[in-house]
Amino acid sequence: MSQRKRRRFWRRSTGHMAAQRRQNPKGDGFETRAVHAGVEPDPATGAVVPPISLASTFLQDAVGAHRGYEYARSANPTRAALEACIAELEEAAHGLAFGSGMAAEDAVLRALLRPGDHVIIPADAYGGTYRLVAEVYEPAGITWSAVDLGDRDAVVGAWRDETRVVWAETPTNPLLSVVDIAAVAEVAHERGALVVVDNTFATPYLQLPLRLGADVVVHSSTKYLGGHSDVVGGLVALGDDGLAEQMAFVQNAAGAVPGPFDCYLVLRGVKTLAVRMDRHCANARAVAALLAEHPAVGRVLYPGLPSHPGHDVARRQMQDFGGMVSFTVGEGEEAAIKLVASTRLFALAESLGAVESLIEHPARMTHASAAGSPLAVDPSLVRLSVGIESAEDLVDDLRHALDAVG
Ligand code: PLP
Repeated sequence: MSQRKRRRFWRRSTGHMAAQRRQNPKGDGFETRAVHAGVEPDPATGAVVPPISLASTFLQDAVGAHRGYEYARSANPTRAALEACIAELEEAAHGLAFGSGMAAEDAVLRALLRPGDHVIIPADAYGGTYRLVAEVYEPAGITWSAVDLGDRDAVVGAWRDETRVVWAETPTNPLLSVVDIAAVAEVAHERGALVVVDNTFATPYLQLPLRLGADVVVHSSTKYLGGHSDVVGGLVALGDDGLAEQMAFVQNAAGAVPGPFDCYLVLRGVKTLAVRMDRHCANARAVAALLAEHPAVGRVLYPGLPSHPGHDVARRQMQDFGGMVSFTVGEGEEAAIKLVASTRLFALAESLGAVESLIEHPARMTHASAAGSPLAVDPSLVRLSVGIESAEDLVDDLRHALDAVG
C-alpha cells in the first residue's frame, strides 16, 4: 500500500470505529458495553447478531469507489466490530485484532522498535514474550533487559539512552507478580519511553492499563476474552493516532490477521466476560484458601492473599484478583508432575482463561521456552486456571490430588 493509500485506509477504518462507538446508545456500565460494543443489529435484516462477514474481497462500484471495504486482509466488517469492541472496553481510541496474542505482540514491537533500540521486559515475562524478544528481536538488532518492574531502582539501573519501551505484564504468567502500572509509566514517561501492558490475565473488566498511564494494551484473546478454549487470537488497544497507524500498517503489511469466524467467537465470548470473571475470581479465592492451608503446598502465588507482595497494588489497580493461582509442591519437579496428572476436574492442558479449569506444569509446558534462561521457571511450580465450575467441586478435586502427593 502506498503511503497515501495507507492514510486513506487508516482514516476510513478509524472513522468507521469511532462512528460505531458514537452509535452505541446503550449505556456506560462495563457489563452493558461488553454485550453491545462494536455490534449493531444488521441494517438489512434486523438480525440482532450481525452475520459473520466471510468475503475475502468486496465489490467496487468504480475503481477506488467502494463501500468501506476492499480486501479482507486490510479490513473486514467482523474484524472491525471486534476492533471497535476492544477499543471501547479498554477505553482506547483504537483497537486492532490479530491472529494470536504473539502476533499482536509482534506488531506492537515491530511498530515501536528499530535496530539499536532497547526494551525492558519483566524478569518473569510470559515465556513466549521472552522468546520473541530474545530470539526474534535480538538477532534483528534490538537489545533487552529482564527487570523486576516492581523495583524502581532496578528499572532505572537498567535504563539506557536507547530504551524505547517498557513491556509490563500484570499479573504475570505464571508467577502472578503484580506491577504498579502508574509507577512504571511515570519512570518510563519521564525518560521518553512508552509503556505496553499485557492485560491478558486481568482483562479490561478487572484492570484498565490506559487509565493508569500505559500507552498500549495487548491481549491474548485466546484466554479470558474468548473464554471457551475454542479460538486463538490477539488484540491491541491504544490512544495515540500515529502509533495506531503504524500498528495498522504492520497488521496489513505483515498480514497476521484473524479470520472472521475467530473474530466472531471473541466478540461472542466478550459478551459474558463480566459474569465469567466474577465466577473465576470467586472460585480462585476458594482454591487459594485451600492451598494456603494444605500441608503439601509450599508457596501460594495469588494476588488476593494479603501475604502476596503485590496485594496492595492489586487492590488499588484491579477490581478483583483474577482467576489464576500458582503454587509450589514438594522439591524439584517430581511432586508437581505427579499432581498435575492426578486431578479429575482440573484438566492437564496448556492455556488458561476459559470456563473449564486447567492445571499445568509451567517449567515443562507453557514456559519450556525459558528453560536454561534467566527466566526459567521453578520446576516445583504448578499453575491453575480456575474455571467457572462449582467451587466446592474444584476444591474437593484439588484436595484429593494434594492428599495423594502429600
Ligand atoms: N500473553 C500472555 C500473558 C499469555 O499467557 C499468552 C499465552 O499464553 C500470550 C501473551 C500469547 O498469546 P497466544 O497464545 O494467543 O499467542
